Amino acid sequence: MTDLHRLSIRELSEGLKQAQFSSRELTEHYLKRIAKIDAKVKSYVTVTAEQALVEADAADAAIKSGNAHALAGIPLAHKDIFCTQGIKTTAGSKMLDNFISPYDATVVAKAKAAGLVTLGKVNMDEFAMGSTSESSYFGATGNPWALDHVPGGSSGGSAAAVAADLAPIATGTDTGGSIRQPASFCGLTGLKPTYGRVSRFGMIAYASSLDQGGPMARSAEDCAYLMNVIAGHDAKDSTSVDKEVDDYVANLNGTAVKGLRIGIPKQYFNVAGLDADVKARVEESLKKLEEMGATLVEIDLNMTEAYVPTYYLIAPAEASSNLSRYDGVRYGYRCENPKDILDLYKRSRSEGFGTEVQRRILIGTYALSAGYYDAYYVKAQKVRRLIQQDFLKAFENVDVIAAPSAPTTAYKIGANLSPTEMYLGDIYTLAVNLAGLPAINAPVGFDKDSLPVGLQLIGNYWSESQLLSIVHQYQQNTDWHTKRAAIAEENA
Ligand code: GLN
Repeated sequence: MTDLHRLSIRELSEGLKQAQFSSRELTEHYLKRIAKIDAKVKSYVTVTAEQALVEADAADAAIKSGNAHALAGIPLAHKDIFCTQGIKTTAGSKMLDNFISPYDATVVAKAKAAGLVTLGKVNMDEFAMGSTSESSYFGATGNPWALDHVPGGSSGGSAAAVAADLAPIATGTDTGGSIRQPASFCGLTGLKPTYGRVSRFGMIAYASSLDQGGPMARSAEDCAYLMNVIAGHDAKDSTSVDKEVDDYVANLNGTAVKGLRIGIPKQYFNVAGLDADVKARVEESLKKLEEMGATLVEIDLNMTEAYVPTYYLIAPAEASSNLSRYDGVRYGYRCENPKDILDLYKRSRSEGFGTEVQRRILIGTYALSAGYYDAYYVKAQKVRRLIQQDFLKAFENVDVIAAPSAPTTAYKIGANLSPTEMYLGDIYTLAVNLAGLPAINAPVGFDKDSLPVGLQLIGNYWSESQLLSIVHQYQQNTDWHTKRAAIAEENA
């Protein structure tokens, strides 16, 4: 079969079970596509071809024996922030260029236990800091819809790999938008779960109170399948929550949209940098949801102006603390010929970290320093609480909140936005992480340059199932999620 990469996760699962093709054939098919097409996209940092085929054979044997998990034998790509035993985990940094983790992240372990086949590790902004994936030590990744544009970030490799049909699904992480924004830029569906739903164990920390892993795929249905594998309590992550996990796939076919109250925040649609095409596509998608039975309700989110400054204090503060472990001593990059221990720390860190990471460490260290702690960090934490309360108040009157995922479509590679311009592009995604809420991106059309536009739906705590089923119903009534970039149409 030459078109195995066209099949959805459900179709792949059925095809494998009915022996229409084997996991080995499917895995070889994807490896062949990666070998040919990824030279142009550059989404993979590491391709684990040999190990993938071993895993595929094991999955084939399990499927034959009749007691395999529904996803056994289906390939996936992991963001290079998830630790993988025996395989390089770089977090997009020179600091970890040669780092081989002695253990698997829980997300990786769960995927393995279900029999999913790891195709490799995909590119990302260095330590997940960025919105373009250009800050990666391994170079930029192309957006499959226009290779001279970025795929977004920080999970840009995950998004590009799926959008170019170089993996059927991928894992991503979202600290301030890193699943939703690249999903938006690449025309995918991506879910940022409630904080605590997916284990952070073995997921290299950026900002621990904000980080959350989740699925990136072509449709809500595909995301639901991967969520069923990766969600759940983990004793190894003290912030993971011991709460029953929904069956995200079984719940897809509820009456999600009829009678749904969708909040439209007044403040969100008057943001200065909101692109006219993005606004138009998002409004059209909301009109469609209205036709399907939803009610649009105007709401106030008064804290909107505080999102960017609050996040860009708290995230760097936590990052500066988390990144202090990279000191050139136990693992990671070490400078040549250090004069003494101070020289070793200094040069290992200034040679091993890129500019954006160093900027965040500087800002974070400053915000946490004795004289400024109350004025910056403590104040930001107070504002964070107000942002959360703003959402909780809104959810008294609406079921979900709609927004663009990003004010623009994908930027050009090398556009060289100033840090503040780049940070302002995160306006629609940051608050969700500050509040710990779940949110989803769904593709809803294209701008005048044929670049994808995304709608974001923000839900109340633990409403992942509801978000997935709303988007699933939307996708059954529209075909934006079935559109493929020209490069995905190429055969290997
Ligand atoms: N762009 C945001 C940042 O640079 C969010 C990144 C993320 O979610 N990892 O911090």
